[in-house]
Amino acid sequence: AVPAYDPQNIFAKILRGEIPCSKVYEDDHVLAFNDIAPQAPTHILVIPKGAYTSYDDFAVNASDAEIIAYTRAIGKISAEAGVIENGYRLIANTRDHGRQDVPHLHVHIIGGKKLGLMLP
Ligand code: 5GP
Repeated sequence: AVPAYDPQNIFAKILRGEIPCSKVYEDDHVLAFNDIAPQAPTHILVIPKGAYTSYDDFAVNASDAEIIAYTRAIGKISAEAGVIENGYRLIANTRDHGRQDVPHLHVHIIGGKKLGLMLP
């Protein structure tokens, strides 16, 4: 089973406005901001506003409206970031084996340069 949501995780604090972020996009269901430690010229984190720990939690438990908003936002943000033409990478690290640090679902949009191979 998916672990319980921890409302003290850092992205929950960003959503509540307790910690600042460099905002890239926001709508009723989604917030996106620049990663604090970018791994490439474009490194954006896209999060749903709902309390979901991981992609699997979200995919099973979120409403259709949340899923549509999140999926479309990732596409729109990628386009606005200017990475569509040359390509980029989407990553959703999940729990321990996936090396997820922050237990609120986030998709990384990483691009703006030719990335390294991503193998274990
Ligand atoms: P994970 O390993 O959980 O997939 O990635 C967490 C990401 O969140 C990392 O890339 C890390 O740099 C970023 N991060 C951690 N704390 C903060 C923060 O306070 N603000 C922002 N903007 N990014 C953060």
